[in-house]
Amino acid sequence: MQGDIVRTPDVLVRRIFQPLWDVYEGSIRLRTLRELEKSQWHSRHQLQEAANHKLRRMCRHAVATSAFYRRRFAEAGIDPAGVRSIADLADLPLLTKADVRENLDDLLSTSYRREDLTPAKTGGSTGVSLNVFCDARGIERRNAAALRSDRWSGWEMGQPLAAVWGNPPTPTTLKNKLRWHLKDRIIYLDTMRIDDAAIENFIGQWRRVRPGLLFGHAHSIFILAEALRRRGVALRPTGIVATSMMLLEPERKVIEQVFGVPVTNRYGCEEVSLIGCECEQHHGMHLNLDHNIVEFLDDGGKPCAAGQDGRIVVTELINFGMPMIRYEVGDRGVPSDRACPCGRGLPLMESITGRTADFLVASDGSRVAGISIIENSLTRFAGIRQLQIIQEEPLLLIVNVVYDADADPQTEAQLLGALRGMLGESLQFTVNHVPAIPQEKSGKYRFTICRL
Ligand SMILES: [Zn+2]
Repeated sequence: MQGDIVRTPDVLVRRIFQPLWDVYEGSIRLRTLRELEKSQWHSRHQLQEAANHKLRRMCRHAVATSAFYRRRFAEAGIDPAGVRSIADLADLPLLTKADVRENLDDLLSTSYRREDLTPAKTGGSTGVSLNVFCDARGIERRNAAALRSDRWSGWEMGQPLAAVWGNPPTPTTLKNKLRWHLKDRIIYLDTMRIDDAAIENFIGQWRRVRPGLLFGHAHSIFILAEALRRRGVALRPTGIVATSMMLLEPERKVIEQVFGVPVTNRYGCEEVSLIGCECEQHHGMHLNLDHNIVEFLDDGGKPCAAGQDGRIVVTELINFGMPMIRYEVGDRGVPSDRACPCGRGLPLMESITGRTADFLVASDGSRVAGISIIENSLTRFAGIRQLQIIQEEPLLLIVNVVYDADADPQTEAQLLGALRGMLGESLQFTVNHVPAIPQEKSGKYRFTICRL
């Protein structure tokens, strides 16, 4: 459908149609992008000062216009006018998912009408689905930050996009179709139904549209890469952005071999948008300090030292419609005190250790990150194509495994041995041989799920 029309030259899209469309919609997206392109080179100190200034403004706004924060700040004895940095909020309780679910009306700012805010519903993969909102300028700023980090992948504004995504939108109205041809130009592979016909259709669209950026959940891009490799088809984007914390090293290597460009790993969530992204150095993820202040907290609620794994807590500085102050995302990660060789002042995080709900509990009660379990099992033994481990009971693991046709029968014993080595010798397993691991409704794959 979309690719049948003559491809608009990238430079026209970048220089003419995209800016005109922003003017038409009254958007601050490109102006914000220009600011962000400059600020990324500011010193750490400058960026931190600017973030502190925005934090103070956000706290004042939240207390003045949101009943929830008025209560919370009063109970914690914090005067928003006295907030100089995030450390001054140490006594403010974290904003949990339960808080958001139970206090939605009180959280929203009275400066906005709800119908003017953009709603989003977060995926329910951890059993908790949330309704969140963002004001229009906040959405444009978020989009600008995404564009800035898209460019770190090697993609240039105006080049078309390809997304490997679940339930993609299709333009239906005339305005949306026009917008597609003049501005967005994105092709999709729907990850909810990847079969031969869908892959062939995607390859055909790719050859007509020639995307610059390939974008999607890491494991879905890997599945596409495998399908292309089997067909001997070479598709060459200028950049790849993987938006999943579970970017496994072996899968990253396959993706990079097949597409011939490095993978840019990115981390974010629906509630506060982009949190961190690798730059062209691929040496940890730059935190988006222009828009967010990220804290890493240990189990006692104290800030982690560099290199120490902790809970990720985000304060968004640009969503005035629904202030998110000290929001506990539900993921764990490792902060860094390194400077990136690229020279950007934006701070780094070393890695994401996983979603809290992806940690499995060993028989001695310790918690083990799902990503390390997968890296020491799935990727160690030949013949295992996909693996999912679900912990429903403390000593019982359900292991769903997809084998290659020519897998060695010894593999399973090795796999279970490795799992016992990591999680405890007393563990019992129920092993299911399955043809495929299903995705979550969001299109994401989860390799480990803890339901304890
Ligand atoms: Zn960098």
